[in-house]
Amino acid sequence: MTKVMAVNAGSSSLKFQLFNMPSEEVITSGVVERIGLDMGVFTIKVNGEKKSTETPIKDHGVAVDMLLKALVNEGIVKELNEINAVGHRIVQGGAYFNDSAVVDDDVVAKVTELIDLAPLHNAAHLVGYRAFKEALPGVQHVFTFDTAFHQTMAPENYLYALPYEYYTDYKVRRYGAHGTSHKYVSQQVIEELGNPAESKVIVCHLGNGASLSAVKNGKCMDTSMGLTPLAGVMMGTRTGDVDPSVMPYLCEKLGKTAAEMNTIYNKQSGMLGVSGISSDSRDVQAAYEKGDERAIITMKLYARTVAKFVGSYFVELGGCDAIAFTAGIGENSSLTRSLVVKELNEALGCYIDEALNEKREDGNRLISTPDSKIKVYVVPTNEEVMIARDTVRLLGL
Ligand code: ADP
Repeated sequence: MTKVMAVNAGSSSLKFQLFNMPSEEVITSGVVERIGLDMGVFTIKVNGEKKSTETPIKDHGVAVDMLLKALVNEGIVKELNEINAVGHRIVQGGAYFNDSAVVDDDVVAKVTELIDLAPLHNAAHLVGYRAFKEALPGVQHVFTFDTAFHQTMAPENYLYALPYEYYTDYKVRRYGAHGTSHKYVSQQVIEELGNPAESKVIVCHLGNGASLSAVKNGKCMDTSMGLTPLAGVMMGTRTGDVDPSVMPYLCEKLGKTAAEMNTIYNKQSGMLGVSGISSDSRDVQAAYEKGDERAIITMKLYARTVAKFVGSYFVELGGCDAIAFTAGIGENSSLTRSLVVKELNEALGCYIDEALNEKREDGNRLISTPDSKIKVYVVPTNEEVMIARDTVRLLGL
């Protein structure tokens, strides 16, 4: 039995899942939050029960030490050398990586070089990686890139209509994100469809961050996020696509720099900005159900922007066999699914059965009506298991 730790290190958090491979059994999981703040929180599952500890956690090194000590103290592993490998989620792999990679100096140098394109994420991932490297010397590491699945996009899908030199000199292009989730979910859908030789699938990853992808015969053809995860559909706090001229216009009107406006685009926009209520779709939904005007506009705008991407991907794919909803909102919000699919009824002949849509069940489920021209699925995403699978595959464990 091989034990693989799948890690997702953010700027102030570190999520982990320890797997037994190849069975894919989750031995434990948890999260270290508020790293570097006055009071941190460490949560780990022991025998299925969550155990939380509040204590200051100075940096990622301390977070990793806490986690590894807890694994031994709670009897989850007898010795740390039972952990055979660590797989890390990396947001930005640029054009360097079309698959996960075994970590060596060259891989680290490339991820470091790409910090510019994902300043918060890549830097934090490297801090997490170094902390594990130090705590578990001799263990091999694999990086799994959010961008890798999208590397099959053709230039007509990844280029922007800017002077070409910005692409060649500065690597400005669409990279996309959430690729590990899009890959997992599209694979699940293809299996649900009975593994046909040809398939056209649209994945709607709707979480706090949100993106769609068009997947033809298992390969990504297009995706809604761009150079950064700000592009595409509106999100919890991010704008999604906006007329680029809005930025200079508002900079001038508000006397703000582009960097300041960029922060507003990333942190104060989306559902939060439009509704004025919250970035959490549950709060916006509760207000929608009470008839709040701004919440109603927010939900309609959200559904419309998602549906517009589905429409454009339908054209790009030359049709569509199945649409899948995943991530926090996609998996849990029957209202969002219903509003999105209503937008597709007339043009695409796509319908869901509201009783199936409302049902809460674990696992993949079909929610479209038998006569819908496109099958609609809810598929719980699992990025961690993809990291563990790639780690085992690439290290030959
Ligand atoms: P991320 O991984 O991008 O941080 P998640 O995939 O966890 O985000 O999704 C978070 C979003 O999912 C939040 O907007 C939250 O409100 C929404 N969500 C979670 N559970 C539900 C639910 N039961 N109903 C509606 N929305 C939900």
